[in-house]
Amino acid sequence: VSGLILDVDAAAWRAHLQQVAEATPGLVPVAKGNGYGFGLGVLAAEAERLGSDAVAVGVADEVAAVRDQFSGDVVVLTPWRPGDPVATELLGDPRVITTISRVEDLAGLPAVAEGSAVRPRVLVEVQTSMRRHGIPVDQLRQVVDLLDGVQFEGWVIHLPHAEPGRSYGGSTGVAPRTEHRTAEAEALATAANAVRPAPLWFSHLASADAQRIATDLGTSARSRVGTQLWLGAPATRTVTATVIDVHPVRRGDRIGYWQRRVPHNGWVVIVAGGTAHGIAMEAPTSARSARARGIAVANGVLAAAGRALSPYTIDGRKRWFAEPPHMQSSMVLLPADATPPAVGDRVQVEARLTTASVDRVELR
Ligand SMILES: *Cc1c(COP(=O)(O)O)cnc(C)c1O
Repeated sequence: VSGLILDVDAAAWRAHLQQVAEATPGLVPVAKGNGYGFGLGVLAAEAERLGSDAVAVGVADEVAAVRDQFSGDVVVLTPWRPGDPVATELLGDPRVITTISRVEDLAGLPAVAEGSAVRPRVLVEVQTSMRRHGIPVDQLRQVVDLLDGVQFEGWVIHLPHAEPGRSYGGSTGVAPRTEHRTAEAEALATAANAVRPAPLWFSHLASADAQRIATDLGTSARSRVGTQLWLGAPATRTVTATVIDVHPVRRGDRIGYWQRRVPHNGWVVIVAGGTAHGIAMEAPTSARSARARGIAVANGVLAAAGRALSPYTIDGRKRWFAEPPHMQSSMVLLPADATPPAVGDRVQVEARLTTASVDRVELR
């Protein structure tokens, strides 16, 4: 087995998934993008194992990647827009639930879906302080009459992150306090439910709050969860890279595409994983804390000096890149006092799974 491998302790991971599912009534697993590193097919199969009645994908084109492994409903999170042929065709699919976020899109839907055997199944998104998508709360009454043309499944309320460190990959941004999020969710849910009582489909709201708000309003709640579900319990997985080559080098030798000088005697280790795998790609973070900014500055200084610490741990420590990662492999320096790995060994890599693309996922 070679390449970049995501090894999962299947029993331990599934125990975690089960635990989250039990603690989250109305859970809707989110399987989108790179499938949180596992891939959409793996996540769809796990959602089926969990017995979920619905999953959420990010965009219409992802429906095809989950529909064979998963037998329930598929929600498309990105709102429908006119002119998207894939999303429009899915309006006629009885298993697909489409998100609508503008009054004019809802008004146009029956005409677009004409001739289809089923009325489109629709969630209507309410605009929150996110200001990403959604109908402003003062326009919700315009929606009521338009709902007769569709099968109305509920209201969507997608909130900003409530707690620092909860965004993708644990950014250190300072997000609004939890109480404010909950109060906003409650106010919007109350307003929407007054327009038309319906299930509330929340994102990024604690499950207990979602349930309480829905119970108070006499309706039900769904919670769409991705990161906490799939990427919780980090001890259940490791990412490793195969060692493809190892060569002794001497201080001053010129190596690599860029023929830069090696700073010390030792080895250059060629490991699987490069730009195609998202190695050493950092997602932009909201670096608002002094510490986060300090780290960014320190990394910038190292980068300015032409070196970057790699995410590969070899002989017990993170090692320096000899040069920027190549497409599918990376050149990493090992000093003379370290013990070099053998070709074919696997070394640990710290990979951010929301941006990584592994060659293989092994559930065992
Ligand atoms: C991605 C997404 C989610 C899941 O987000 P996580 O932070 O991964 O749990 C939920 N709702 C919406 C609308 C999303 O786009």
